[in-house]
Amino acid sequence: MPNQPAAGRPASHLFYQSRLRRPLASHAEGIYIWDETGRKVIDGSSGAMVVNIGHGNPRVLEAMKRQMDKVTFAYRLHFENEPAEELARRLAGLMPEGMDKVFFVSGGSEAVESCLKLARQWAVAVGQASRYKVISRFPSYHGSTLGALAVTGYDALTAPFLPMMQAMPKIKAPTAYLDRDNLSMEERGLKYADMLEEKVLAEGPESVLAFIMEPIGGASTGALTAPDSYYPRIREICDRYGILLIHDEVMSGAGRTGKYLGGDHWNCNPDLIALSKGLGAGYCPLGAMIAPSRLVQPVLDAGGFAHGYTYAGNPLACAAGLAVLDEIENHDLLGNATRVGNLLRQELEGLAERFPFIGDVRGKGLLLAAEFIADRETMAPLPKEMNAYQRVVDIAYERGLIIYSRRTRGGTEGDHFLVCPPMIITPEEIAETVGILESTLAELAAELGL
Ligand code: PLP
Repeated sequence: MPNQPAAGRPASHLFYQSRLRRPLASHAEGIYIWDETGRKVIDGSSGAMVVNIGHGNPRVLEAMKRQMDKVTFAYRLHFENEPAEELARRLAGLMPEGMDKVFFVSGGSEAVESCLKLARQWAVAVGQASRYKVISRFPSYHGSTLGALAVTGYDALTAPFLPMMQAMPKIKAPTAYLDRDNLSMEERGLKYADMLEEKVLAEGPESVLAFIMEPIGGASTGALTAPDSYYPRIREICDRYGILLIHDEVMSGAGRTGKYLGGDHWNCNPDLIALSKGLGAGYCPLGAMIAPSRLVQPVLDAGGFAHGYTYAGNPLACAAGLAVLDEIENHDLLGNATRVGNLLRQELEGLAERFPFIGDVRGKGLLLAAEFIADRETMAPLPKEMNAYQRVVDIAYERGLIIYSRRTRGGTEGDHFLVCPPMIITPEEIAETVGILESTLAELAAELGL
C-alpha cells in the first residue's frame, strides 16, 4: 500500500484527525509531489485545493527569500508593512465594486470567523443588535473554529460541540440535479433560493444577521453549482430583509474556477467575502476577509473591531501572496484554468459515459467533481458499505494520482470525488491524469461489481 508510511518509521508525537499515518512528503515541483521512497504522484487535488499555482514556483520562492532578508514579522500594533499594504491594494482591485477593505488572517476558518464577527459588530453599531442568526446551507463546510462550525452543515463535525456553540439555522443546499420533478433547472434554482426566504420568515427577519454560502461548493458538496437563477434571487431576498450576504470563497476563490472569485460567474454582490487556500497557495498560511467601507466604518467609529490575530498581515505571508497573484496575472492562470478545466470536464463527462455509476459531473474551471450513483433514473446513492469514496482515493493513489473525496450530499449520503489539479496543468498532464483516473474507475468497478 503506497499511501502508508515507509516501513520502520518510528511512532509519531504528532496527531491530526485520526490514527491514519501517511508517507513523508520529500519534495514537490509543478503538479507532482514525491514521497520519502522516491515515489512520484500527481497532486490532482492541489493538496486541499490550495496549491493553485503548482509546487516549488521559483519566482514565489525568490520573492519570499527577498522578504525574509528584510523582515519576517512586524507586529501590527507597532508597524505597518509594505507587502500587506500592497496585497490589500491589489486584492481590492480584484473585488466587486465597493469591496475595498481587507483584513488579513492565516486561514479559511479565521476568514469565516472574521466575517461572522464583523457582521455582528456592524449590526450592533448601527442599532440592529437583535440580529444574530446566520443562516447557512446543509451540507456545507465553513471551518473548524466554533463560530465557523456553528454555520457548518456537517453533523459528524458539529454534533460533539453542540453544548458549546449555538447551531445556526440551515437550508438545503441547491442539489437541483437530484430532483425528479417537472420543473426546469432555472425553476429549481428559484425554488432552492426561496427556501432562504421561508427560513428567514420562520426565524423572524429581525433576528437574522446574515446568510453564508459557497458560490461553488467545496468538498462537502463536491463542487455543487446552483442553477443560474439561484444567485440573483438570493441577493434579492437578502436585500428584502436587510440580511448580509457572506460568500465563503475559501475554496472557490483565488482563481480556481477560472475567475478570481467563484461569485464572479454570476456577478454576485456579496457584502462580505472570505478568502484563503489559493491566496497563499501553500507557500505561506494566508487568508483574508474582504469588506466594504460601509460595514467597516461604523464598527471602527463605534470603538473598533474587537477581533484580531497575532499573525494578521504577516509580511512574509503577504509577500508570498503578492508573488502568487503575480503568477496568476503574468501567466494567465485564470485563462488556463478555464481552458484546461473545460478539457478536463469533457474528459470526466466521457468517463461518465463509460462508467454508468458516475451520475453527475459538475463544477467550473478546475474546481470539478463527479458523483457516484447506483441508479441513473432515481439518482440513488451507492450503498455506504461499499465505501466507494475511500476506495476511489486509495486506488488512484496506488496508481499515482491524488484526488479528494467525501460521502455527503444534500440531505442524503452520496459519494463524490473532486479533481482539482494546480492551475498550471498542461493538456498533456491532463491526459496523464485522466488515464490514471480511467484505470482507477475500471478497477473500482471490478472490485465493487458496478
Ligand atoms: N471554508 C471552506 C469553503 C473550506 O473549504 C475550508 C477548508 O477546507 C474552510 C472554510 C476552512 O479553512 P481552513 O481549513 O484553512 O481553516
